[in-house]
Amino acid sequence: MPLALEYAQKAADLVAQNEDVAGQWDAYANYAGLLNQAGDYHNAFKYMRLSERALLKKARLDITSQTATLNAQFNLSREQLKSEYLDKQANLFAERNTLLNEQLLMKQREKEQQNWLLLILSLVLAFFLVLCAVIYRLYIKNKLLASRDALTALHNRRSILTLGQQVLATSERYLHPVSVLMLDIDNFKAVNDNFGHEIGDKVIQYVANVCIATLRKPDYVGRVAGEEFLLILPHTDESAAGLLAERLCKKIASANKQEISQIEQLTVSIGIATKNIHSDQPHNRLPNKELTQLIREADAALYAAKERGRNQAQAYQTDLQLKDNITH
Ligand code: GH3
Ligand code: MG
Ligand code: MG
Repeated sequence: MPLALEYAQKAADLVAQNEDVAGQWDAYANYAGLLNQAGDYHNAFKYMRLSERALLKKARLDITSQTATLNAQFNLSREQLKSEYLDKQANLFAERNTLLNEQLLMKQREKEQQNWLLLILSLVLAFFLVLCAVIYRLYIKNKLLASRDALTALHNRRSILTLGQQVLATSERYLHPVSVLMLDIDNFKAVNDNFGHEIGDKVIQYVANVCIATLRKPDYVGRVAGEEFLLILPHTDESAAGLLAERLCKKIASANKQEISQIEQLTVSIGIATKNIHSDQPHNRLPNKELTQLIREADAALYAAKERGRNQAQAYQTDLQLKDNITH
């Protein structure tokens, strides 16, 4: 027993020198127990109190350490949460970035598509405009062809009659005289018979060219039948028309005929009819009828010119007989 007490005391002294509160609590309690058994109540009480204090200190230290652990755990969790939050935020940013990039790409693609669409539309529009231009040109060409005589390129019958009506209407409006010439190639049948239709056609073209070269700008000439030409002369009285007709006869009879050199004698006969319009005359509302009448008169004058030996111009006179079966 004294030995146990001695060792217990040594143990209590030993632990008093270090900070091992658990060891202190244990050693002091053991020593206090042995002192109590030995009857040293005073020291037993003292070491019991020391043991108690060590226990309390240990409890305090345990609590502090637990608090520190909890605090550390809390901080760690907080840091982890923060880090997770930051990670999530970074992920969100990355996703947003990807989304924005995709949106940008989509917009670029949309723009490219719009550009393509615009290009295609422009091409379609250009094609359409070219098509319109081509159709318009064809229309103009067709209109021209429809109003032209294929052999001479002069106005055809329908076109010269329309122009004649227009000229008559305008002349009535401004009280200007209008003259009409009916020109027919003399003995043309013989030309065809002796030299063939090809030369006959060349003669017709030749006469057409002389007419074009001789007429003034506002005058019109058209081929109304095989070798018959109708000339409409606005603002022209009978004497001026007579002079022009004479000039035409002379030009055709005397001009240098290179392409039809084999034809020695080429002459034409011309019938003239004039409408003098006066202010006291009532306006004629039927220029078509008026033109037909004028052409009939010019035809009658032409017939008279043929009768009188051809190669001449003849103005219509009231004593001339008008033909009923006129072809115009
Ligand atoms: P006239 O002096 O009385 O006028 O006698 P003509 O022989 O000229 O008689 P007419 O005017 O009746 O002649 C018409 C002839 O014109 C008949 C036809 O053979 C010819 N002819 C009609 N159209 C054409 C044509 O497009 N080309 C050619 N080469 N001849 C045509
Ligand atoms: Mg004839
Ligand atoms: Mg003839």
